[in-house]
Amino acid sequence: MIVRVLGSAAGGGLPQWNCACANCRAARTGRLARRSQSGLAISADGERWLLLNCSPDIATQIEAFAPLQPQQARGTPILGMLLTDANVDHLGGLATLRQAGATGFIVRSSAVVREIATAQPAFAPFAQPPHRWLEVPLDRTCQSEGAGDIVGNELSVRAISVPGVTPGYDGRRRRQGAVVAYEICERGRDNRLLFAPVFASIDEALMRAVSAANVAFVDGSFYSDDELIAAGLLPKRTRDLGHQPVGGAGGTLERLSGSTTRLIFTHLNNSNPMLDPQSPAHAQTRAFGADISYDGMELRF
Ligand SMILES: [Zn+2]
Ligand SMILES: [Zn+2]
Repeated sequence: MIVRVLGSAAGGGLPQWNCACANCRAARTGRLARRSQSGLAISADGERWLLLNCSPDIATQIEAFAPLQPQQARGTPILGMLLTDANVDHLGGLATLRQAGATGFIVRSSAVVREIATAQPAFAPFAQPPHRWLEVPLDRTCQSEGAGDIVGNELSVRAISVPGVTPGYDGRRRRQGAVVAYEICERGRDNRLLFAPVFASIDEALMRAVSAANVAFVDGSFYSDDELIAAGLLPKRTRDLGHQPVGGAGGTLERLSGSTTRLIFTHLNNSNPMLDPQSPAHAQTRAFGADISYDGMELRF
């Protein structure tokens, strides 16, 4: 399986247009690398690709990665998308990809995410031909929808319901299926990838999925629970926003200590001190043995 990190930042990216926090300033001066909003592209053969989330930065991300660029006068090697939730930074790129032509995309998400997202005029067309927006069954393997489908043919995909809330524009309601993680392997192989860029906590099912994976991309949005408050950015706690902090008591590092899976933190908010290689938070994450994803990172396994 080929995995390309298209973007590694949470909503807003790094720098975020209206933010002058220490990390955003460092990204503007070039001391820290810029990051676009998060998402992965994956493929079994390097020719047919599936997007895991589709950020508003998708057009720039396609231009930065030749295998996602068209091979004919009009066309795309992208066959479809898997969406973990209905946050705009995870599906806003659909609005950019609306000139998809006659073939269309196969979009997959939970029923809750489809309901919330397709109520928005920008995303409603993806539930109409030539596109298809399919519901992923929770905790069961997705079926193939025919030859033009990468899911089920080349890749075996299972959606795992994880603790989380609906987006701010839907009131941050706790609903089953508001957020899912995806467990993916190549058909006939056991090279298991877990994509869990958002979760409010790690329950037993998510813990099992992390252990079973070879590589797990996990929620690295915030390092501490009061990070936004301490920096004077937003009077909100990390846990109120539906994310488990990486550090501290009950944080992801503590919860996943002892895991032998290769852990890669992604979806980093620009406030997160892990972004700065000179910070103690970065050192602690690396000492734990975990990686921090970056735009353009590639894995083959
Ligand atoms: Zn996000
Ligand atoms: Zn910032």
